[in-house]
Amino acid sequence: MPTDLPNVAHLIIPPVRDLGDGFHVKRVLPAREQMMVGPFIFFDEMGPIHFKSGNGLDVRPHPHIGLATVTYLFEGEILHRDSVGSVQTIRPGEVNWMTAGRGIVHSERTGSELRASGGPLAGIQLWLALPKRDEETPPSFTHFDAPQLPRLIAGGVELTLIAGEWLGARSPVQVFSPLFYVDAQFARGSKLVMPAGYEQRALYVTHGVIELDGHRIEASQMLVLQPGKEVTFTSRDGARAMLLGGEPLEEARYIWWNFVASSAERIRQAQADWRDGKFAAVPGETEFIPAPDMNSVRPRSSDD
Ligand code: MN
Repeated sequence: MPTDLPNVAHLIIPPVRDLGDGFHVKRVLPAREQMMVGPFIFFDEMGPIHFKSGNGLDVRPHPHIGLATVTYLFEGEILHRDSVGSVQTIRPGEVNWMTAGRGIVHSERTGSELRASGGPLAGIQLWLALPKRDEETPPSFTHFDAPQLPRLIAGGVELTLIAGEWLGARSPVQVFSPLFYVDAQFARGSKLVMPAGYEQRALYVTHGVIELDGHRIEASQMLVLQPGKEVTFTSRDGARAMLLGGEPLEEARYIWWNFVASSAERIRQAQADWRDGKFAAVPGETEFIPAPDMNSVRPRSSDD
């Protein structure tokens, strides 16, 4: 969407996708206006939803290549399993970082206890494209508990550094290229100065309203900032937002289904490998999500 807000390149209002049973995701990136923000190539807000007793999330095993997934919840929990043998429950404030590299398979489900009781689920799941030199790195998975993440308070805003470097603090979460990913909780009447440091920067409001130069940025809107200028966000009544960005990768990226690569051929190879059962299995899982028909979908380049 065109914007005349000062210092703003794009205002992204994501489409809402219904994944069934009342479960909605807002697909913020890739957007028509801008495919990537730094290495961030995919950004989904899930929920909020309240699962009734007996219901839950069931994302069956599916593959990834060429990216790292980062999961961060506001409410609820998800049980992650993957083909390197990880079995990990994630809860609010914790981080699941999965490096797909040359190939990983995972499932994401509601665990049996929570499924029996029912409960809420809300959070962000995003993907970072790996730099070309790391695209074929061995797959791995790491979980971080909430107390492991650096916390800063500035101007009445509580900042949790999920990944990367921000205002001199560094998250223990290993990253592959310069970036920042921050959970910013704005108290009433608070103010956040976003420095010019990284070339590409964005803010996504998850709760409440944030103001920039007197303009209101509502929940479920992403602002992509113009490079090179410090900006100041304020909140009158309290709000929450994710701050993200970094240095752009050198080459274009193709994104198709669950795959990201710097070459279209690598995507085709991954699609064939999944179709032919060549990815590793997830212990404890027997189901899988079939790949869509590639003839109907053209890989999309960030140069498009
Ligand atoms: Mn996935």
